[in-house]
Amino acid sequence: MTDTEHQGTGDLAELAARMRAFTEERDWGRFHDPKSLVLALMGEVGELAELLQWIPADGAVEHFRDPERRARVSEEMSDVLLYLVRLADVFEVDLRGAAQEKLVRAEERFPPGAVRGVAPKRG
Ligand SMILES: [Mg+2]
Repeated sequence: MTDTEHQGTGDLAELAARMRAFTEERDWGRFHDPKSLVLALMGEVGELAELLQWIPADGAVEHFRDPERRARVSEEMSDVLLYLVRLADVFEVDLRGAAQEKLVRAEERFPPGAVRGVAPKRG
C-alpha cells in the first residue's frame, strides 16, 4: 500500500487537533479524563459489535456491502477511532508512530514463512 492510499486515514494528528478544538470549544475537557475516554471507547466498540451480533462470520463482509449497513458500520468505526485518537492526545501518545512500531514488531515476530495460514498463539 502506498502513502497515497493511506492518506484517507493517515493524518491522525489532524484528527487529534480537530477533536481537541471540538472539546475545548465546548469546555468538555473536564470530562475527558483517560478513564472516561476508555469507557466511552468501549461503549462505541460495543455499538460496533452490536451491528455484527448474530451475523454469520462468513457473511459479514457481504452483509455490510449494503449502503445503509455500510454507513452504520462506518459511523461506529469512526466513533471508535475518534475516542481512541482523543485518548492518545490526552496521553500525549503518538498513535500513528506507536502503531507503526507495533507493526514492525509483529512483522519481525511473525515472519510469513513461519506462520503463513496459522492463527497466532497467545503468550
Ligand atoms: Mg456510536
